[in-house]
Amino acid sequence: MATDKKDIRALTKDQLRDFFVSQGDKAFRGNQVYEWLWQKSAHTFEDMTNVSKETRQMLEDHFVINHIKVDTMQRSSDGTVKNAVRLHDGLIVESVLIPTKTRTTACVSSQVGCSLDCRFCATARLKRMRNLNPDEIYDQVVAIDNESKLYFNRPLSNIVFMGMGEPLMNYNNVIKAIDKITSPEGLGMSPKRITVSTSGVPKIIKKMADDDVKFNLAVSLHSAIDEVRTSIMPFNETFPLQDLKESLEYWYAKTKRKISYEYVVWKGINDSQKDIDAFVAFCKHVPCKVNIIEYNPIDDGEFQQASHDALENYISALEKNRIVVNVRRSRGKDIDAACGQLANKS
Ligand code: SF4
Repeated sequence: MATDKKDIRALTKDQLRDFFVSQGDKAFRGNQVYEWLWQKSAHTFEDMTNVSKETRQMLEDHFVINHIKVDTMQRSSDGTVKNAVRLHDGLIVESVLIPTKTRTTACVSSQVGCSLDCRFCATARLKRMRNLNPDEIYDQVVAIDNESKLYFNRPLSNIVFMGMGEPLMNYNNVIKAIDKITSPEGLGMSPKRITVSTSGVPKIIKKMADDDVKFNLAVSLHSAIDEVRTSIMPFNETFPLQDLKESLEYWYAKTKRKISYEYVVWKGINDSQKDIDAFVAFCKHVPCKVNIIEYNPIDDGEFQQASHDALENYISALEKNRIVVNVRRSRGKDIDAACGQLANKS
C-alpha cells in the first residue's frame, strides 16, 4: 500500500539519534534501532524485541522499512542461485550467488534496467527505470549471504557489482551501500573482497580515485579500438577510449591498485589480429589483469562466441607480454543468470 511515511533506513545513525531526542527519548535508543536495521537486518519494527512496545509503535507511526523481498529463487545445475528481487514499488531486479570450491560470490544489481545500451546485454533492453537505493543494494547482499550459509555452509566471500545497471551511474548510492557492507555496524566485509565493474565512466573513475575508495575496479572493455567499441557499446562515443585510458592512469597513480579488464571475444567483431594488438597495447598503459569471459547468447544470434583459436591467440599475445590472463567460464547459463543475461525473464 502506498504511504507517505519515510523509509527509516534513509536516515544516518546521527539523524536517528536526533529523532529519538526530538521525541523526548534518549539518543542511545537510535543506536539500538540502527543496529536492528543494519546489522540484524530487521524486516519489521516488530522484530526489534529489545525495544519497548510503545517505541516500536511510535516508529511504526513515523516510518516504514522498505525491505526487498526475494520473489523467486532459481538454482542452476552448477549450484548458481538467481534471485528475482521485488522492490517496495513492485519493480524487480536480479542478483546471483556464484559458488566455487573456494568462494561464494554475490553479483548484485545497482539500477532497475540500465542507463547504458551495450548491444550484447539483455539488461540494456530494459530502459533504466530508476537507481537502487543503498538499502536495496545492501539487502541483496544480505539475502545472498543467508543463501550462502543455507546452501553452502559458509558466508559470502566476495561481491561484484556486475548485475543489472551501470554502478557508476548510481555512484552515490553504490558508495553508501558499500560503506554499510564494509562497516562493522553492517556486514563488516573487507573492501578488498568487493569489485565494482563498470563499462567505463571516466569522470567517476577519477572521482573514485579522489575519494580513496578501497574496493577493486574492473572495466568491461571488450575492444580497444574506438570504432569497434562504439559499435557494440554506443556510449563509447561519449566516453572514448582516450578519456577512459586517462582516467585509469589517474586511478592507478592515486590508488596503486591494478585494474581488471573484462573482455568477451565475439566472432567477426573483435577476433582479428588488429583487435588483439590494440588490446595488448591498451593493457600496457596501466598495471592490469585480464578476465576473458565466455559469451552467453541472449537469443538474437547477432553475437556469437569466437572460435577456440581466436581465444588462444588473445591468451598467448597477452601472456607473451606478461599480462596475467584468466579465462572465466560462465555459470548459471541454464537459468539465464550468467553475465549479460539478467533481464527479468523469471
Ligand atoms: S553490460 Fe552493464 S552497462 Fe552495459 S547495458 Fe548491460 S548492465 Fe548496462
